Amino acid sequence: MHELEGKAAIITGASRGIGAATAAELAAVGAQVVLAARSESTIRHNARVIRDNGGQAEAVACDVSNYKDMQGLISHCESTFGRLDILINNAGVIEPIGHLTTSDADAWGHATDINFKGVYHGMRAALPLMQTQQSGVIVNVGSGAAYSALEGWSHYCAAKAAAAMLTKCAHKEVAASGVRVFGLTPGTVATEMQILIKASGINPVSQMDPSDHIPPEWPARAIAWLCTDKAKTYAGAEVSLKDPAVRELVGLQ
Ligand code: NAP
Repeated sequence: MHELEGKAAIITGASRGIGAATAAELAAVGAQVVLAARSESTIRHNARVIRDNGGQAEAVACDVSNYKDMQGLISHCESTFGRLDILINNAGVIEPIGHLTTSDADAWGHATDINFKGVYHGMRAALPLMQTQQSGVIVNVGSGAAYSALEGWSHYCAAKAAAAMLTKCAHKEVAASGVRVFGLTPGTVATEMQILIKASGINPVSQMDPSDHIPPEWPARAIAWLCTDKAKTYAGAEVSLKDPAVRELVGLQ
């Protein structure tokens, strides 16, 4: 992972869960990380902990559903570090869980603004800079729900499927300029999202035992691996952390 030393990286959804673990992982291998999420005091705290451990980190409050926020986040990174090497589009929500037929249209739409348009916002704001640099890596954190319909999760399944297609479209457009775009489906991960899922009681995922979930440090390591040259043959693909071959490549076996 030495090749990530000094790289400028943004992680959205870095206040907790997979995003917080990814920020810590990238900082531990020497990247300069910018933690982004809506909860400003939490990302400030997380950045302080990383700095206390010898890493380089700062926090920028940002709502990924707001394009101006995403533009501001990318500009902040560019003006602070002179570049942007890595963008992890990780922010996501599972709520509101419930049937499409009784859903609140505004809440349903807002969830897709985060889970789908948030990924577009990040790529739209970051890719021109990465193309100018002729280098950069984007990892979009997806979900197996993109490929398997689940009761009560219509916005989530549909948005993750749409975001997976965005990964492929972006790859077609930017691979030739030296920019790599990946998707990662982590499997089920022990985070606050799974606590909300369990509490809902809807669909088989809510029936899983908490011990079935992997820790957030696993997808964090996979994301760091995707940011290295070792993963470049996977560019344009959505990589599954349930795949034993991928786990072995990441060093998780
Ligand atoms: P989590 O613990 O609930 O964390 C979600 C993160 O997203 C938080 O940091 C939250 O911070 C941030 N966020 C939510 N809305 C945001 C917005 N509008 N703007 C900026 N940040 C926002 O969930 P997680 O499990 O770590 O999920 C991370 C990603 O992994 C998501 O994309 C999720 O869909 C995906 N995933 C998770 C699982 C799983 O089993 N946990 C499985 C497959 C895929 P604030 O609330 O402070 O903004």
